[in-house]
Amino acid sequence: MPMDNSAWDVVIIGGGAAGIAAAASLLKRQSSLSIAIVEPSDRHYYQPAWTLVGGGCFDPAKTYKATASLIPTNAKWVRTRAKKLDPDNQSVELENGQSLSYRTLVVAPGLELNWSAIEGLESTLGQHGVTSNYRYDLASYTWECVKTLKKGRALFTQPAMPIKCAGAPQKAMYLSCHHWEQSGLLKDIDVQFHNTGGVLFGIADFVPPLMEYIKRYNATLNFSSELIAVDGPTRTATFMDTTADGGQQQRKETFDLLHVVPPQRAPAVVRESKLANDAGWIAVDESTLQHTQYGNVFSLGDACGTSNAKTAAAVRKQAPVVAENLLSFLADKPLSAGYEGYGACPLTVEKGKVVMAEFGYQGKLQPSFPVNPAVARTSMWLLKRYAMPCIYFDMMLKGHEWLAKPVKL
Ligand code: FAD
Repeated sequence: MPMDNSAWDVVIIGGGAAGIAAAASLLKRQSSLSIAIVEPSDRHYYQPAWTLVGGGCFDPAKTYKATASLIPTNAKWVRTRAKKLDPDNQSVELENGQSLSYRTLVVAPGLELNWSAIEGLESTLGQHGVTSNYRYDLASYTWECVKTLKKGRALFTQPAMPIKCAGAPQKAMYLSCHHWEQSGLLKDIDVQFHNTGGVLFGIADFVPPLMEYIKRYNATLNFSSELIAVDGPTRTATFMDTTADGGQQQRKETFDLLHVVPPQRAPAVVRESKLANDAGWIAVDESTLQHTQYGNVFSLGDACGTSNAKTAAAVRKQAPVVAENLLSFLADKPLSAGYEGYGACPLTVEKGKVVMAEFGYQGKLQPSFPVNPAVARTSMWLLKRYAMPCIYFDMMLKGHEWLAKPVKL
């Protein structure tokens, strides 16, 4: 509790990328703030590297650190889960039976992977060639499956938007194909991409370089094709295909490898709160990240209802915006920091090359480097593979705001 037993200056829900980055950026500006971070997990995961783990290019043990080692020195870690958000009373009910009062609230519990939305999936994950880079323990299994597959059919699926790192479903496919290509096996493997949506990538500028890889790897694209059921033992996936005239038909495909990306939604604590918008995410102003009704509430990261790409890269730019605006709110000053929707998706099209897609609201390109972003580059692979984990752990989570200056409103 704060020294005088009163409300915390800031309560942060979630100690993932967004929660820790926001705390670090706040304390960098005002070290005297009393901050409580509610986070149940003793491990903090760097999820962007799971794609590389699935491609056999990253040590899984290096994708996490102890949460305790990342909580800023001046913040208090409350090791439990938030159960109910009560913005009218400026308090949060916790799963351990306690509650926290706050002057300001930062909501950053990430999103929920809805594995059970696909019939039969949960019980077969990690067996029968059914895998997903969206879970730490399964990313290594992806690589196991890729390494052992010599011929047959490999299916890669993508659910409806929004999802975190919208490029990750196809990144898994490209890295797998590259391995099979290098091993001389690709010609014997029928590779299919099944996307519930209607395009390969939401930002048109990046589609042509991606299509070159689709052709090179001879992968079949299936749009409006949603995975609805999996039968592990018979290795059969069921898709609901939407036809051009809007009709629906089921299709079954047998597989030797199935890489699934599950449907995603806001966590229940967010969906069921007064802070949620119609789609269940935290309703904030797209620019200031302040709640549209409760002025003392801010949000960032995957739980936030902005239309940017849900990525850790987005958090890098959002954290300073939340920090500056929250402090302005506490000081009774106008909010002056703006977020332009930046997000980034390093598309690992082969082991050693990345198409670095960086863009903001309305798909406006926001490249960080003065080169054509729609070209697969070795330099961007080196950035993704070697520099990004350090930028994340040693800079973003420590309040060192690299390439993250907010726009002045
Ligand atoms: P998280 O980092 O997921 O953290 C949420 C935290 O909230 C967790 O620690 C959780 O334990 C906690 N929590 C949950 N519920 C509660 C509760 N009720 N009470 C308290 N705490 C709670 N991003 C990129 O920028 N580039 C990439 O290349 C990239 N690739 C990705 C590949 C994969 C396979 C995946 C899975 C993600 C990828 N991302 C990538 C996305 C990135 O990891 C997320 O966007 C980022 O982690 C979001 O941060 P967050 O803090 O909102 O959520």
